[in-house]
Amino acid sequence: MALIACPECGRKVSDQAAACPQCAYPLAQAIVEPVGRDGQLQPVETVELTGKRWKTMKAYAAVLFVVGMLLMFSSVSNGSPTAMIFGILILLGSLILGVRAAIGQWWHHR
Ligand SMILES: [Zn+2]
Repeated sequence: MALIACPECGRKVSDQAAACPQCAYPLAQAIVEPVGRDGQLQPVETVELTGKRWKTMKAYAAVLFVVGMLLMFSSVSNGSPTAMIFGILILLGSLILGVRAAIGQWWHHR
């Protein structure tokens, strides 16, 4: 029995574990059976936890989006290029996070 790093959160987990205890990433399935991604072997708890995770991610994306928009607007009103760059970066980050969450939700849906 060895410890491996979880591909999702990086936490050290036993290679015998079916899922990461921290983020519920389905470890055994990902490593032993990369083809079996239809969720057939996943326990129900894992699927629910994963769904919650994507929802949380979507919520973060929405918050980031609002923050990015606010930064953009404030940079326009006070002419600060730094705030503009940060605003664009945060907006991009929120979009990437949102897309990732949408894909993840769709991927784990059944
Ligand atoms: Zn993990």
